[in-house]
Amino acid sequence: MKRFGLATVALLLAVIAVVVVRGTRAAPPALPAEKLAPLAVDAAAAAEHLAALLRFETVSKQDGAPDLATFDRLRGMLEATYAKLHAALVHERAGEDGGSLLYTWKGSDPTAKPLLFMAHLDVVPVEPGIAWTEPPFAGKIAGGFVWGRGALDDKSSVIGLCEAVEALLATGYAPRRTIYLAFGHDEEVGGRRGASRMAALLESRGVKPELVLDEGLFIVHGVLEGAPAPVAMIGIAEKGYASVELLVESAGGHSSMPPPETAVGILAGALSRLEHAQMPTRLAGAPRQLFETVAPFMPAWKRLVLTNLWLFSPMVQRSLAGKPTTNALVRTTTAPTILEGSVKDNVLATRARAVVNFRILPGDSVAGVVAHVNAAVNDNRVRVTLLQTTVSEPSPQASTESAGYSSIVQAIHQTFPDVLVAPGLMVAATDSRHMRVLGADTYRFAPHVLAAEDLKRIHGTDERIALTDLEQGIRFYAQVIRNADAATR
Ligand SMILES: [Zn+2]
Repeated sequence: MKRFGLATVALLLAVIAVVVVRGTRAAPPALPAEKLAPLAVDAAAAAEHLAALLRFETVSKQDGAPDLATFDRLRGMLEATYAKLHAALVHERAGEDGGSLLYTWKGSDPTAKPLLFMAHLDVVPVEPGIAWTEPPFAGKIAGGFVWGRGALDDKSSVIGLCEAVEALLATGYAPRRTIYLAFGHDEEVGGRRGASRMAALLESRGVKPELVLDEGLFIVHGVLEGAPAPVAMIGIAEKGYASVELLVESAGGHSSMPPPETAVGILAGALSRLEHAQMPTRLAGAPRQLFETVAPFMPAWKRLVLTNLWLFSPMVQRSLAGKPTTNALVRTTTAPTILEGSVKDNVLATRARAVVNFRILPGDSVAGVVAHVNAAVNDNRVRVTLLQTTVSEPSPQASTESAGYSSIVQAIHQTFPDVLVAPGLMVAATDSRHMRVLGADTYRFAPHVLAAEDLKRIHGTDERIALTDLEQGIRFYAQVIRNADAATR
């Protein structure tokens, strides 16, 4: 007994020693100071160009085809604005209906793997009845910002990429790698008309990129508590997407003589059981890499915990699961969204229907989600159906050792010298998932510096981008191209 006690104490001391040594050894490394190759950027003109782009109401609606006439006029504006780009690059109308745009800038070295940059031309609708500081489609520049729907998501990336190419062309730059710009026109409704067709086209041409860079995570400050600087998070993986329908049918009838269990009641019970049976948490892959990367920069106790996830992972998972924003990093989330029942208060529903949306953590699967729903609902009166319209498995995880990743990290350090860079998990869906067929490392990052409260502007009210971010964004994209071109094969 005594020997057992001593062994336990010795083990405990050993654990404490490992935790402390790991925690204190991880002193914050100095941020690399990289020199930025000069690039003449006309920031004021770029802001005007973005403002002009925001005036096109390229709104994607859940039902209905895109307004191609508006996309046509938008294309005309880009052609008029970026003369060098349109002279030097092959430009094609792409997608099912020609609403997307695909540009090819031929590189000098046919053996070098190409780069694929993505952005999207469509935007989400504006919620009616809510007043914006500046009207959402007026393209106003005021107070150091360009205001409007799409200023962050994602027309700023379209402008950033076009300005970067235009500025590089003005210097006489000729890329070694072939560069593709793929601008989808229906990202906000799943990208089936745009990005998915462009992916098939590129695949048919045998394009195998070194990297795919799409919109995604940002440079955020005040989001990771304790981080001494803004953190640029590069999405190296993306959660999957599945919506599951729960349907209960019954005879219906007059509400004055209800049966003991109604369709609505049965459905409500199923939803409640599902919400109480959340999928398990796990700290792995991209989110784990994020915490391990920022750990050395954190205050003492946080550093101690995050450098010892082998021991503290369960505790960290519990803490992350406590907030919706971080809960999304550690589990497949369950979100009941649509609920339908009777059409009148005195009529029993013959059909009660709910849709539950799942964002699937890498490591889980669509089939696993459906099995989980069936097990949690556990009632054969509830029909469980996977909706086929927008299903995607979680993405593979992109390498953080690749030349592509290094080019992006280096470009961030060169453009935003005072930020930390870390890999991260994209919890929403992007058009880049359609490019999986190309088998390239895919990264999701947009070069904008946002505070926690700014994140609400995306798909929300008062969307805007700082003029300084727009300018730095242009330099960032140009720098990724130059870095990737300079990288050894
Ligand atoms: Zn977007």
